[in-house]
Amino acid sequence: MIAPILRDLATLREMTGTWHRAGETIGVVPTMGALHDGHLSLVAEAKKRATRVIVTIFVNPKQFNSPEDLANYPRTEEADARKLDRFDIDAIWAPESDTMYPPGFCTGVSVSGLTDVLCGAHRPGHFDGVATVVTKLFTQTAADLAFFGEKDFQQLQVVRRLSRDLDLGVEVVGCPTIREIDGLAMSSRNLLLSDRARVKAPRLNEVMEDIARGLAAGKPMADLTPRALRALENADFLSVDYLELRSCDTLALLETASEPARLFAAAHLAGVRLIDNIDVPVAR
Ligand code: AMP
Repeated sequence: MIAPILRDLATLREMTGTWHRAGETIGVVPTMGALHDGHLSLVAEAKKRATRVIVTIFVNPKQFNSPEDLANYPRTEEADARKLDRFDIDAIWAPESDTMYPPGFCTGVSVSGLTDVLCGAHRPGHFDGVATVVTKLFTQTAADLAFFGEKDFQQLQVVRRLSRDLDLGVEVVGCPTIREIDGLAMSSRNLLLSDRARVKAPRLNEVMEDIARGLAAGKPMADLTPRALRALENADFLSVDYLELRSCDTLALLETASEPARLFAAAHLAGVRLIDNIDVPVAR
């Protein structure tokens, strides 16, 4: 079945109301479109776990720090709808910007603590934009379950927190990062990489895997970071926003893999900001 593309909130509400009255569960996959296999893995998981599935496509202006970044963000709605065909989902929720944020809109959702570090520290206001739109998407779609990628691990933790704190009653399900064959984490932003930059991009994940091996062998970040930064510079990653080991749960900074941890990186390659994170086993 080809899923209807809905832009009107009343129609969406009518649909979700009918489903809930029939005792069905609604799984939601929030996206900004330009769908790739990473997004589609979330859709596949949602199909397994919920009886109705809604994919949302909304390029959220509130989570962009620069107007240029927002303008350049890829928009491929027709192709996205075609990619979703084979999943037999129930609706695509793709509201216009002024449906999401009508004139006079002045409410925001803000999660403290978790958002002070990593991307939160480098992209002021980004997670307020994410938290606000996700809260709206959850209530608009009457979600029971929502599916997010570990690719954006900090975002996943922020969304889990807000769903609990605001009693939204949405079970937030984290799904593993899907990668290209060369290790590059799939991302809509990869479309913005030149051919030359695309060849260099997997270096980010390789360098992170090297660090993870060192950490697993008991070495501290201070011993591993200088070499990693040099390797990134050699691959034309001109500025590294962060390369940090953090606790999975609290995102507190760690020096060694003494507890369940993840290694996080964000770096700029040929004008494109790439992020990645990987699981780090507790050191032997
Ligand atoms: P975005 O469209 O970039 O906002 O991403 C929408 C959802 O897809 C988020 O939950 C992301 O974490 C998830 N996602 C993006 N890339 C990947 C990937 N490579 N593997 C798994 N999930 C992903």
